[in-house]
Amino acid sequence: MFFASDFYIMATPKRKVSHARTSQRKAHWLGALSAPETMTCTNCGEITLLHHACPSCGYYRKRQVVKVKSASSDEAAS
Ligand SMILES: [Zn+2]
Repeated sequence: MFFASDFYIMATPKRKVSHARTSQRKAHWLGALSAPETMTCTNCGEITLLHHACPSCGYYRKRQVVKVKSASSDEAAS
């Protein structure tokens, strides 16, 4: 789990900022730290990141773009 205080770029004066301002700022930072967008692979059904080749089968947009080392049975057949 990430904490908002790890991502502050500028220092914030403690005495000049109200509690409401502090909580509003932290809510914004925590909202930005949502989980990355995922999809299910159309080839193997694995959960993958959007706009990335599938790590388990190497498919992207219904064609193989990356050779996956774990799929050694395909290489032996061809
Ligand atoms: Zn896949």
